[in-house]
Amino acid sequence: MRSEGTDMALLSIVLPAYNEEQNIANTVKVLSELLDEKGIEYELVFISDGSGDGTFREIQKAAAENPRVRGAEFSRNFGKEPAIFAGLSMAGGDAVVVMDCDLQHPPETILKMWELWQDGAQVVEGVKQDRGKEKLSYKLSAGLFYKVMSKLIKIDMNASSDYKLLDRKVVDVLLTLPERNTFFRALSFWTGFRRETVYYEVQERQFGESKWSLFSLMKYAVTNVTSFSTLPLQIVTVVGLVSILFSVVLFAQTLVKYLSGTAVEGFTTVILLLLIIGGFLMLGLGIIGHYIARIYEEVKGRPKYIISKVTENVQGNAVGAWK
Ligand code: UDP
Ligand code: MG
Repeated sequence: MRSEGTDMALLSIVLPAYNEEQNIANTVKVLSELLDEKGIEYELVFISDGSGDGTFREIQKAAAENPRVRGAEFSRNFGKEPAIFAGLSMAGGDAVVVMDCDLQHPPETILKMWELWQDGAQVVEGVKQDRGKEKLSYKLSAGLFYKVMSKLIKIDMNASSDYKLLDRKVVDVLLTLPERNTFFRALSFWTGFRRETVYYEVQERQFGESKWSLFSLMKYAVTNVTSFSTLPLQIVTVVGLVSILFSVVLFAQTLVKYLSGTAVEGFTTVILLLLIIGGFLMLGLGIIGHYIARIYEEVKGRPKYIISKVTENVQGNAVGAWK
């Protein structure tokens, strides 16, 4: 989607939006002013993630006023990951920045990312310096969340966020990945292209509320860990081995006691052992079941998202999954 007659590189900005009607117009204004001023050729791609409010109407309005704005609406809420991927497949830029549409990702950072890209970086990771003035409970849960995640998937989660710039090559690679359950934040590490880092401070949200509750954050964590790592499955094996070892010791002790005639009625021990082993068995089954569920989801091969509407300036297959 390079503009005709110019050789300038095009920057696409992908903005997932879920119930953000109050933010769209302002975000378009802030971003276009910034990029116009710097003379960067750009396009803004909004993906409304099945919003229940007037988000898509706002996107359409912005698109009618500014041809650099395009967008699509999902048929229902599919989640931020699918929204990012829909945006990536619609973006036509030589470089693509993914950012939240609530301006919590400071727009000026785009300029730094753009410069690093011009100097040859293929992935520019935005790294949070501070989580802004969010609630303490949120800070704690998010902090713990990233610690555990980093350990599990062996990628330093604190060294990346969903705010990043990707070169066209990287975007094309990500779009060829067949998996349904993606983890955008870590996938750019996985692709292995040349990475640079920029730091940014998380801004306060201007309008609306954060879409994450503690529960949805936990669900997100489990989904991401299992889509990126099989470590939990190995933990099941380790726990199994440890309890076998334990039972060998106990077996020997019980036998010795029985033979020496000092065996007592150990009901408490029996009950406790049953409970503990039962618990671990259930947990193990649960983890394995979770992976089977994920395999089931992947095998069904359903699209990551379904697009129900697009703005008038979008060509191509207007309805349905993009790819
Ligand atoms: N978002 C989305 N789909 C969802 C939830 C969120 O596209 O199901 C978008 C949301 O509109 C925003 C971004 O993802 O642009 C980050 O969400 P939010 O601001 O609620 O998260 P936080 O900044 O609190 O981490
Ligand atoms: Mg936000």
